[in-house]
Amino acid sequence: MAQRLRVLLVASEASPFAKTGGLGDVAAALPRALRALGHDVRILMPRYRGVERHASVIRTVVPRLEVPVGDRRVESALLATETSAGVPVYFLQQDRYFDRDGLYGTGDGDYSDNCERFVFFCRGALEALIALDGEGREAWRPQIIHANDWQTGLISVYLRTLYRDHPALSAVATVFTIHNLAYQGVFWHHDMPMTGLGWDVFTPAGIEFYGKLNFLKGGLVFSNLLTTVSRTYAAEIRTPEFGNGLEGVLEERAQDLHGVVNGIDYEQWNPAKDPALPRSYSPAEPEGKLVCREALRRELGLTDVGLNGGPGPLVAMITRLAGQKGLDVALESLPGMLDAGCRVALLGSGEASLEEAWTHAAARHPGTVAVRIGYDPELASRMYAGADCVLMPSRYEPCGLAQLIALRYGAVPVVRRTGGLADTVTEFDGARRTGTGFLFDAFSADALLDAVRRAAAAFRRPELWGALVKNAMTEDFSWDTSAREYAQLYKKVLRPQGAKPSRRSR
Ligand code: ADP
Repeated sequence: MAQRLRVLLVASEASPFAKTGGLGDVAAALPRALRALGHDVRILMPRYRGVERHASVIRTVVPRLEVPVGDRRVESALLATETSAGVPVYFLQQDRYFDRDGLYGTGDGDYSDNCERFVFFCRGALEALIALDGEGREAWRPQIIHANDWQTGLISVYLRTLYRDHPALSAVATVFTIHNLAYQGVFWHHDMPMTGLGWDVFTPAGIEFYGKLNFLKGGLVFSNLLTTVSRTYAAEIRTPEFGNGLEGVLEERAQDLHGVVNGIDYEQWNPAKDPALPRSYSPAEPEGKLVCREALRRELGLTDVGLNGGPGPLVAMITRLAGQKGLDVALESLPGMLDAGCRVALLGSGEASLEEAWTHAAARHPGTVAVRIGYDPELASRMYAGADCVLMPSRYEPCGLAQLIALRYGAVPVVRRTGGLADTVTEFDGARRTGTGFLFDAFSADALLDAVRRAAAAFRRPELWGALVKNAMTEDFSWDTSAREYAQLYKKVLRPQGAKPSRRSR
């Protein structure tokens, strides 16, 4: 390898320590893939409650770290562990902010001090790097900070303002990745003093957004390079329909905005090795999937579904119950899906109204619709393995991981053609036996049902369905290709390095 890059990936969640969605998967899998390519990539995240359950040993690297928040200095510490794949992970500790049940809030909404919590995290990340720079044997200085989503948006702002001339940080370049543009971290202007930033950055060209403070905008304006998690989403977010008010900023930075599709961790997501499954299977030996399907049917109390040409496919959804995911249109389509012979299973949690509506639907259709409210990774695995199809009628979808997992597990994706779904699923062509799933364009029950009916028709021809499942399972969305793309982008922004840290690290 030509050049070994030193990258600190900063994220508000990383699997398995803490995860609420796709960001947590990416923040763990990308560093792992980059390390496999020989780069020195480390993760920094908050020390949430319970992270120690996933770490064999946590050691203290910097016992006392002071982080300015407003006119106070908040005491903190920097801890460290390694993932099972050997990726170093730093935890920024402040129990008052992070020793809580949730990451960002409770069922009743976001924590009211999220601005303060993530000001602390962004500024703490830089204070931690300064401390680490002089930390003897532990000394380490990244060339690049790779920040992710709004919770890390102020890091690039600090680097270009308050910390611009700090010898440990002045040569650090920044890459900022948008995993979901709809979540921006918008707070009222009275929170500005808490950031410690001057009012000169509180302008439309800076972090001001309709009179408020916008963390994500900070990342977009002040980072050296921007990425998002699929090519289609990179184009979509420059339009008013998907831009959430930031389309102008993104258009201005179009030259620096790249779409790199996410992968999934092929070690973790592997039906040949997944311990949650009643029977393993693979593209070469797919028979075990039928066992998984039958076990899932029984577990969920669904009546007989078609094997080899029976009534119709078992259609699953494994998802956050949020407006983005199109569960309202899926609900509207439910009678049509049942008419087409489908059995429908949903695993998810989130908005109370959707939880309630789907729970009622299951009660109305015993034996044909099964709903499990909750977050359950093992049941999720069993559903990917047992389902014939995974349905994703998203309004928008930056990348989507569920369809990638579905492909790997031979559950044929039926998806709306938007964002990463458009980039990762191709329409099945029965005559040519090409393609991996079924797509629809309009956000409507009619369009959704049309795609489901195409899936159900293919399902009734076992030989055809077998070819489709094989196509799906042999697609390659492992991280290797995308990690190489990130490495190329990191190299584009590398800056001349200043003085070395006090002692070189590994
Ligand atoms: P998003 O990040 O928007 O939630 P993605 O499709 O990118 O959507 O990633 C969702 C991830 O979370 C997938 O790994 C999916 O399997 C998992 N997931 C979503 N809901 C649940 C749930 N209720 N139980 C277990 N896993 C879930």
